Amino acid sequence: SSFSGLGLNPLISAHLSSKMSIQKPTSIQRAALPVTLSTSPEVMARDIFIQSQTGSGKTLSFLLPILQDLLPLGSLSYIDRSIGTLAIIIAPTRELAKQISDVLENLLQLRLRGADQSADDANVSRLTRWLVSGLLIGGGTRTHEKARLRKGLPILVATPGRLLDHLQNTSSFNVAKCRWLVLDEADRLMELGFEETITGILKCLEGHRKLALQAVTEGIGREVGGWDWERRRRTIL
Ligand code: AMP
Repeated sequence: SSFSGLGLNPLISAHLSSKMSIQKPTSIQRAALPVTLSTSPEVMARDIFIQSQTGSGKTLSFLLPILQDLLPLGSLSYIDRSIGTLAIIIAPTRELAKQISDVLENLLQLRLRGADQSADDANVSRLTRWLVSGLLIGGGTRTHEKARLRKGLPILVATPGRLLDHLQNTSSFNVAKCRWLVLDEADRLMELGFEETITGILKCLEGHRKLALQAVTEGIGREVGGWDWERRRRTIL
């Protein structure tokens, strides 16, 4: 089976293949993408729980749907970065956040393809120009991060503490239109004691969120670190 066969936009699968040497979906991608890419209202109303081992290709299982979901917004004439943040990916450590951000940056290289003038490329370039990703992982100054948030970061990769800090203290951080929230390695987030922080984040995003929770440990229990998986776990992969 191919990425396009699972519902991925052929322009994105062409980019995966030509620029990232990724030709065929892994088994978790084959299972996850039909659900995470689905635009059926029934499926979109649900939270998604993806469980598979490290290295199995989970990152693309949530980054590809986010990209595919946000791309068409580029055709709206009024779109600009003042739309705020539309997707937030939370990772338990700075290192993991950086890795996710690197993969995301590779995907967003799509926007650089306009130069060779084919109609498709020009179209992709127009659709993706506004898609900018940002990394909020602490370590840098808050002031600098605030300035970037004020300009608008449609896709954000963050560690929990710094994210909550900005949600509570940065007035220009606009999440009113946020469509995606991903908790990567959710089990580790809980083990590392971030439950309260995550709960705080969820409160700030109440009402407009689409959760993709995922855990990496095999044989995970129903509860990890007291987190109520069962309540959120509606589509199980
Ligand atoms: P992940 O589990 O998401 O951290 O991915 C592990 C590694 O597999 C990363 O280096 C990815 O670039 C790579 N990868 C992800 N999906 C595929 C695929 N469909 N084919 C080949 N490599 C992949």
